[in-house]
Amino acid sequence: MERKVIQSSALAEVGYKLELGNLEFGTLEVLFPSKALWRYYGVPNATYNALMAAQSLGQYFATNIRANFRAERVHDEGCNFGPVSNPMKTYIPCGVGCRCWCHTIVKSSEEKKSHGDFDSKKAAEIQKIKAQVKVRAEKNRIS
Ligand SMILES: [Zn+2]
Ligand SMILES: [Zn+2]
Repeated sequence: MERKVIQSSALAEVGYKLELGNLEFGTLEVLFPSKALWRYYGVPNATYNALMAAQSLGQYFATNIRANFRAERVHDEGCNFGPVSNPMKTYIPCGVGCRCWCHTIVKSSEEKKSHGDFDSKKAAEIQKIKAQVKVRAEKNRIS
């Protein structure tokens, strides 16, 4: 879905697409400044037009849309993590320019993983030192 860049501190981009064969209701897509992407279903065309014409889009969205429609957090179109393109949700690097919010989450869990590797290396080193101490202690006992 194509989105328009919005001059608002509450919303970054807004897109709207009428449901197939329907001239009155459609799906509203909102990208927040946090990079989270949400879809709102069954939004009347008139509501979308009123949003785009509102003096404060963020305020109109908060009072007339946010809590009034069925909402779902979605992946950006073309994102390999999306439910359509990658139902197994295994990690496949996305094409250049994928701005989906999910990649920041992947990055942080990768960081955790490497941190874990570091900890297990440290644990192995401690085990080695403990074993050396034990060998030395046994030697001392014999002599
Ligand atoms: Zn994604
Ligand atoms: Zn992606």
